[in-house]
Amino acid sequence: MNMKNINIYELARPNIRSLAPYSTARDECKMQIGAFLDANENPISNGYNRYPDPRQAELKGIISRIKGMPVRNMFIGNGSDEAIDLCFRVFCRPGVDNAVSIMPTYGMYKVAADINDVAVREVALGENFSLPVDSLLEACDENTKLMFVCSPNNPTGNAFPTAQILTLAEKFDGMLVVDEAYVDFSSEGSMLPYIKEYPNLIVLQTLSKAYGLAALRLGLAFGDERTMAMFANVKYPYNISLAAMEKAMSLLKRDVAAEVECVKAEKERMEKALSGLSRVRKVWPSDANFLLVEVDDARGLYSELLDRQVIVRDRSKVPGCSGCLRITIGTKEENDKVLAVIGGLEPESVVERREAKVVRKTKETEIEVVVDLDRKGSDGVSTGLSFLDHMLDQIVHHAGIYLTVRAKGDLNVDEHHTMEDVAIVLGEALIKALGDKRGIERYGFVLPMDESSAMVLMDLGGRIEFVWDVEFKREFVGDVPTEMFKHFFRSLGSAMLCNLHVSAKGENDHHVAEGIFKAFARALKMAVRREQFAYSLPSSKGIL
Ligand code: PMP
Repeated sequence: MNMKNINIYELARPNIRSLAPYSTARDECKMQIGAFLDANENPISNGYNRYPDPRQAELKGIISRIKGMPVRNMFIGNGSDEAIDLCFRVFCRPGVDNAVSIMPTYGMYKVAADINDVAVREVALGENFSLPVDSLLEACDENTKLMFVCSPNNPTGNAFPTAQILTLAEKFDGMLVVDEAYVDFSSEGSMLPYIKEYPNLIVLQTLSKAYGLAALRLGLAFGDERTMAMFANVKYPYNISLAAMEKAMSLLKRDVAAEVECVKAEKERMEKALSGLSRVRKVWPSDANFLLVEVDDARGLYSELLDRQVIVRDRSKVPGCSGCLRITIGTKEENDKVLAVIGGLEPESVVERREAKVVRKTKETEIEVVVDLDRKGSDGVSTGLSFLDHMLDQIVHHAGIYLTVRAKGDLNVDEHHTMEDVAIVLGEALIKALGDKRGIERYGFVLPMDESSAMVLMDLGGRIEFVWDVEFKREFVGDVPTEMFKHFFRSLGSAMLCNLHVSAKGENDHHVAEGIFKAFARALKMAVRREQFAYSLPSSKGIL
């Protein structure tokens, strides 16, 4: 391995090179201590009364195993923003030195430079946001101490080829800072393995993005041990709190890779879905957890999204990104909301269709039921039993769903098989159409109706229960035996995995039966109703 020949200390500011850093008594003493009377802390223990480890040894040990990097090559900051600031404070003489960066890119490089009174030479990305290797090198002079390359880049989303970044590390005789905040979402790979070869390489990563710990403020820098030692000397002594370290150590045990896979799958879905919307001109390819999306009227759409309580990043005024919004990949529900707003509220194109067809053939019956919970109508209901057809029409009408039923049964034997099997197939079709039940109201009920009152209580939560409190006076209503209604609803409720309570009374059995079907239809309408913008499972258990 050929190591780049560069003197890091010569690049650093003279006052930092010769800095005598703040040192604590605990830093200076390597013995086992029984009484800590050196730091003016409150001695009464509450878990947080002592200063934390200024070197963050335990957390660094864990990150070292995750990243495969030695602790001596690592710095932990209060977000990578601290590491960005330290790059300037360690290497750039205010008012004298300068930095070079790509443009557009993450805004904090420029802000940190301005705070430190360091000029930034911004070099525009090439065609399709490519890395302008030659122009970046041409922008440098003898006072250029830092070069910032963000890969995958924010806000463009693309990662630059490793070979091109290595060319910069090779040819640039200052510190090359590669910000890999989004590297975990990228297939391009990290620059960490090249730190040994290139002492002028600083790689920034963070626990704020893929690792899901933005609130803990833990940014990482990796580099030559001399650089890391200077960072440690310049940082505030206790820059990372014990609470943040503890919480991070426990939360880093999560399956972060699985979470990253979910985000990547959602990104792929969003990429496809957004590309199909008429207001979207272009979705830029992304190696990160966000998409840069060029739209017809960025400002207008930004406001529309805000009106629906969705905030994205308007990047339309950023050079090279005109017309663009930067949209972070959220949860499925959040992403669906974005699609609904940009798609001009076309729910069908956003959330799964709730339709199903179930066909069942036995020696006794042949039945086909087609259901669509999100549209109204029917292509006919025919079961061979006129009164049952009339009742099923009540469901079509009063549930406000699409329902077609075709049944041929052995009515020559009696009505039993046809009634039972229609109920079963109808129940199966309804439960199939409901799918994963996201967003549904789950419960339905109706109030009493007419002279004969009927009440149907329904819970689509998945537990089967059946309560029937109905008495008929006649043996038949039309061509249907009244005893079959109980059997019909028991079969239907159990096929729908539903808790169904039916009670009805009245003078006229026709009205009672019809009341039950209507009430069932109304309960069904309420229970299957889906709130698109609350697309979660209606259960505190998280499953149905
Ligand atoms: N680098 C890039 C490229 C970023 O986009 C961000 C945050 N938006 C950061 C660094 C800051 O990360 P942290 O939360 O670790 O300060």
